[in-house]
Amino acid sequence: MEDFYTIQGEGAHTGRPAYFIRTAGCDVNCWWCDVQESWDESKHPEVKVGDIVKRAKESGAEFAVITGGEPLLHDLDPLTMRLKQEGLQTHIETSGSSPLSGYLDWITLSPKRFKKPLEDIFPYVDELKVVVLKNKDIEWAEKNAAKCPEGTRLLLQPEWDTPSSMDLIVEYVKEHPEWGISLQTHKFLGVR
Ligand code: SF4
Repeated sequence: MEDFYTIQGEGAHTGRPAYFIRTAGCDVNCWWCDVQESWDESKHPEVKVGDIVKRAKESGAEFAVITGGEPLLHDLDPLTMRLKQEGLQTHIETSGSSPLSGYLDWITLSPKRFKKPLEDIFPYVDELKVVVLKNKDIEWAEKNAAKCPEGTRLLLQPEWDTPSSMDLIVEYVKEHPEWGISLQTHKFLGVR
């Protein structure tokens, strides 16, 4: 769908410059999704892996973030292999609802209740980032955390347009210090 050099706005690597690669196509359909234009893959042109990798390399970024849409609807082996050959680390942000592929250095699982993650991804998760609107989402976060390896970064992220979620998260994290808070800082900074 698009690729561009920016700042990682959320999660464990917040604030680091990163080359973002946004794949087209998503079958999860979160109602609060802020990239709904990504859902229909047929509305976006096919792009050569080599061209994306060239732009990523030229950006000077240390790592690429593959996001979507839902990136695991694509076989990520060729893209991630080429990125690594060029010396970039490879990160992914995924709902985990399609089979895992790719040579990945950092996996951020953002599981959605609408289309649940496949079990196979859990042993490989580095960061669990759950978007929270209400209490039910915290229960969902804990259910997923129980399946992640020890040492996984556990993050709760308020849904941008649901201010009440912030109080909920703050109180929860104070009582459950194994969790941290992720904010969409790119929205404060005005970068995409
Ligand atoms: S998984 Fe991501 S891209 Fe897909 S609908 Fe949900 S928020 Fe949007």
